[in-house]
Amino acid sequence: MGKKRVNEVSTTEGAPAEKKKKVEKWLNTSSEDGEGTKKKKRPWRNKVRKLAAKKAAAERRVENSEESTILEPVATAEEATKKKKKRGPKKKKYKPEAAEVEKKNEEGDTVKENPIAEAKKRLDAGRFRMLNEKLYTCTGSEAFDFFKEDRTAFDLYHRGFADQVKKWPNHPLREIIRWLQAKPDKQAVFDLGCGEAKIAEAVGEKHTIRSFDLVAVNDRVESCDMSKLPAEDGSADVVIFCLSLMGTNLYDFIKEARRVLRTGGVLKIGEVTSRFVSIKQFCEAINKMGFETTNRRQLTDYFMMFDFRKIDKVEQKRPYGLKLKPCLYKKR
Ligand code: SAH
Repeated sequence: MGKKRVNEVSTTEGAPAEKKKKVEKWLNTSSEDGEGTKKKKRPWRNKVRKLAAKKAAAERRVENSEESTILEPVATAEEATKKKKKRGPKKKKYKPEAAEVEKKNEEGDTVKENPIAEAKKRLDAGRFRMLNEKLYTCTGSEAFDFFKEDRTAFDLYHRGFADQVKKWPNHPLREIIRWLQAKPDKQAVFDLGCGEAKIAEAVGEKHTIRSFDLVAVNDRVESCDMSKLPAEDGSADVVIFCLSLMGTNLYDFIKEARRVLRTGGVLKIGEVTSRFVSIKQFCEAINKMGFETTNRRQLTDYFMMFDFRKIDKVEQKRPYGLKLKPCLYKKR
């Protein structure tokens, strides 16, 4: 359409003044085109309005800044930076109660947790797992020397063990205590690797109990390595290892248990089922060391209980098959 008009304009050649007038007229009124329906095209109009708005805004800014100068005296450079610093993000004050965060527990209930206490718990749990592994991978005398140097490590180990026990549905210790409670005659009982000496606590009045462990956590406990007991030959009627066959020198522990037992005395072992490489070979090995098996049973899915009786004959001092795997705890 535009093209056509240009063409039309070009037909007015030869009359420049007229032509100029016509062109101007057309440019000004072209959009009306005689019909007056279309709006005028003014491409410069918006530009002009934008410029005017900018100018007005700039003027307003100047006015405002003059106002603020009157209200607040202009700060020196030093004061300005000080002010800026003050305006920076406020440091949060440490509040112990604020350290608590809400979390969902395994049951989906909302519980409050303290992240610092939680981190400490995780560190202690890691240390417990490390100490537990150490006990399964060194000899009894090495463990004894280690804890003699570091008593706090032993306390941490015992706290960790007690935490684990709380999660178990049962404990072979209960079975042993029941068995001792049912014994009519007073027995001389040695609890080797006794921990907190729970057996002495439970049946200490009925029987004569001696409780041995690497470190004495209370007055009932005698501190020693159970491969070197401070006790006479044949002085015990019953020797108990409840979850305590931990060192790598199992032969020494069994040999020492036999030394302190009287002939006919009972060796009782409560252990974690998953530790056994072969239960049959384990029993055969103990038999060869001068015992006979009188009872052997699965207590629960987790624990086995064995009763042996001391006999006179020792077939082999270090028979094949006396092996137990370490009992390691999973990271949670
Ligand atoms: N008998 C207790 C504790 C079991 S934990 C109970 O059933 O609850 C194992 C215990 O054996 C630990 O207290 C550990 O210190 C102890 N122990 C491991 N090796 C030992 C050793 N060579 N001499 C003495 N105690 C030992």
